[in-house]
Amino acid sequence: MEKAGNLEMDAVEYPLVEDFYTIQGEGAHTGRAAYFIRTAGCDVNCWWCDVKESWDEEKHPMTRTGDIVKRAVDSGAEFAVITGGEPLLHNLEPLSVRLKQEGLDVHIETSGSSPLSGQLDWVTLSPKRFKKPLDENFPYVDELKVVVLKNKDIEWAELNAKKCPPSTQLLLQPEWETPSSVKLIVDYVKKNPQWGISLQTHKFMNVP
Ligand code: SF4
Repeated sequence: MEKAGNLEMDAVEYPLVEDFYTIQGEGAHTGRAAYFIRTAGCDVNCWWCDVKESWDEEKHPMTRTGDIVKRAVDSGAEFAVITGGEPLLHNLEPLSVRLKQEGLDVHIETSGSSPLSGQLDWVTLSPKRFKKPLDENFPYVDELKVVVLKNKDIEWAELNAKKCPPSTQLLLQPEWETPSSVKLIVDYVKKNPQWGISLQTHKFMNVP
């Protein structure tokens, strides 16, 4: 019975931009080896998005859960990071359940603008003003990571932090192409030490 369930879940397909084994470069798990699964499709439209090629689902192959999970397991990773695009445009139940059955923890990076789905061990909320997170998602946020270009983004970060559980890790991340945001964040974090800084360290290391 369970086997039939697994076969069904393995047959579920997701539009996949790429999947690869690398180092988590951002946030609370920075520096840990992770298997990244980047689904296609995004309806948030951040103008500074650095993965715009992920937006159009039609341009990416539908890929079986079973194939993705096999590659993740073969990589030797301890955890997978499902990202996008906006991964919550898809029902993540089959993919997350199968990854967990095979022993991988499941992390997600999301704008939170669609309902949560799947069995998730770590939820990183990266809220965007272009399409706001759903209130129903906030109780499940482990890490709030807000990309900052200017002062207004810090106000946005505080608005979202108010909705998160007290245990949520609060992180501000400078937008890569906006170096002026670094001073802004450093000054703010020194005055508000409940916040930390997340850097895109994979870009410094030149790994995907
Ligand atoms: Fe790009 Fe993420 Fe914004 Fe979508 S939510 S446009 S993938 S930065």
